[in-house]
Amino acid sequence: VFHALNVCGVEVAAGEGARILPLASGLDDALFEHDGQITKREIRALTLSALAPRKGELLWDIGGGSGSIGIEWMLRDPAMRAIAIEQAPDRAARIGRNAAMFGVPGLAVVEGQAPQALAGLAAPDAIFIGGGGSEEGVMDAAIAALRPGGRLVANAVTIEMEAVLLAQHARLGGTLVRIDIARAGPVGSMTGWRPAMPVTQWSWVK
Ligand code: SAH
Repeated sequence: VFHALNVCGVEVAAGEGARILPLASGLDDALFEHDGQITKREIRALTLSALAPRKGELLWDIGGGSGSIGIEWMLRDPAMRAIAIEQAPDRAARIGRNAAMFGVPGLAVVEGQAPQALAGLAAPDAIFIGGGGSEEGVMDAAIAALRPGGRLVANAVTIEMEAVLLAQHARLGGTLVRIDIARAGPVGSMTGWRPAMPVTQWSWVK
């Protein structure tokens, strides 16, 4: 039996089966409650790297899903701040539960649809777009709200969203990365590579 404390000094889990949280970003997907809509750990690690959190900064996690990106941002340091914006009520509630479980109850959850739900929120130092980026006005609102010098990172799994990111890259520059991950899994009695859907990631500094 042992106790696990996160960087904020909050007890994350205790007792039989408690696990100690690794310090690196890209935590095991299974540590989060999710419904399958979660940025997978390898992609999440690269996403946090691109978001480049600095002490005390504010992140908007647009299309929060399970909240995994905002939670890993918050886990960097007790001074971090984050707002997850999520349109699905069940997922918005789940983000709150995950934040509590990871000991970062300061993660704010806005249940609503971007871009409308973004109005009036404090200007962010970094923005992650994990959902809604191909919807009318979301990308423009994010770019407008970002503080000068702030980072915007957007991931695309669909071709429609990828087209949005290619257009932004052509217009504004920044960095495009394509991430192809494969995990080994059983093929009959043997083992083979099971590719995940490729992710196109656009990063840009305002
Ligand atoms: N990064 C998340 C997964 C995001 S899945 C994680 O790691 O858990 C994309 C999410 O975006 C879904 O939950 C979907 O409901 C949400 N979404 C899509 N369009 C949106 C919009 N316009 N405003 C807010 N949320 C949106």
